[in-house]
Amino acid sequence: MAEIQEYWRWTEYSWHHPEMDWRQGKRIASGIDVGSVSSQALILVDGQIFAFSNLRTGSNSPDSANNAIKAALKDTGMEIKDLQYTVGTGYGRVNVPFANRAITEIACHARGANFMAGPKVRTVLDMGGQDCKAIHCDERGKVTNFLMNDKCAAGTGRGMEVMADLLSIPIKDIGDLSFQVDKEPAPVSSTCVVFAKSEALGLMRSGWSKNMVLAAYCSAMAHRVSLLLGRIGVEDQFFITGGIAKNPGIVKRLEQELGIQAVKSQHDSQHADTEGGTVIANYGYKDGSGEFFISIDTDKCNGCGDCVPVCPPRLLEMVADQYDPLSDKIVAAVREEERKKIKYTCAPCKPASGRGPLPCMAACEPGAIGHSW
Ligand code: SF4
Ligand code: SF4
Repeated sequence: MAEIQEYWRWTEYSWHHPEMDWRQGKRIASGIDVGSVSSQALILVDGQIFAFSNLRTGSNSPDSANNAIKAALKDTGMEIKDLQYTVGTGYGRVNVPFANRAITEIACHARGANFMAGPKVRTVLDMGGQDCKAIHCDERGKVTNFLMNDKCAAGTGRGMEVMADLLSIPIKDIGDLSFQVDKEPAPVSSTCVVFAKSEALGLMRSGWSKNMVLAAYCSAMAHRVSLLLGRIGVEDQFFITGGIAKNPGIVKRLEQELGIQAVKSQHDSQHADTEGGTVIANYGYKDGSGEFFISIDTDKCNGCGDCVPVCPPRLLEMVADQYDPLSDKIVAAVREEERKKIKYTCAPCKPASGRGPLPCMAACEPGAIGHSW
């Protein structure tokens, strides 16, 4: 019997750093995204990417989260119990069994884009499995505004999967094939994936090639997300996250329509929210040496402010939570101007100097402050 080809099926993968010795790491943080179509895990060791995975989401969120982290941990010698802090994100974020905290994917995408493409990024477009989000953020990757299209699968990964199956074209080839046309056709008129499907069938019956149909569909998707972006305003430093960012058929047409090139990154666009979640999990401050010295768990921080006056050099201050867009909490933070020299400023407190426990940690009843010493 001939095997039935599933054209929509994309390749699952996992990776870990072949040389990094995670046992020497001082801070191991992970992010787990349980999305509607795919689930990813990503692990940072001292701020460096150590391992990741990308699998299809299964029938329930806890299993999907467990499978994703197991795939990332495979052959590393690391176990779930070695993860010091984990953030769950995506639609299944509250059902990640080993997560310390759940954070919206909107906050994680913005923080991830900031980590992947730098602090100048102000507009982030997430083209995910079942919805599209246009996000505006500040130089720290904190969300300042967002808009979402979640009413229709057009312009999303699911819409692309439907088209791949309909045209019997492997999903990874859609973008490139959509440019193999003599002339760019007009976009399909339907924005709903169900109608776009019947419109595509009609076009093929009238003699259009599959590549023409793909071009018309990619063009319609690009136009649709450009309208969403137009409503939030696009600034020059613009970054695309999510699986569809890997489809040049949509990305290039979108760039053309906006007249702006998206910022490129060597990171995998599909990991933006897990990277963002992991960076938030690793909420802390690197100094000039590149190591993390202080971490503040904003979930545990109750805003009491007791750590501020006990810190001899007044390194700490109370600020609005920088990462959670829905929170109006005040939390402890290391003062901006001090962040590059923590190693030196905190040196007199170092336990080896015989001064006992660090004053900030001793004052913090909920145990929100961590140090890499
Ligand atoms: S270790 Fe000392 S100097 Fe550093 S933040 Fe804590 S109290 Fe302040
Ligand atoms: S003492 Fe702890 S709980 Fe209080 S503000 Fe500082 S970090 Fe937050």
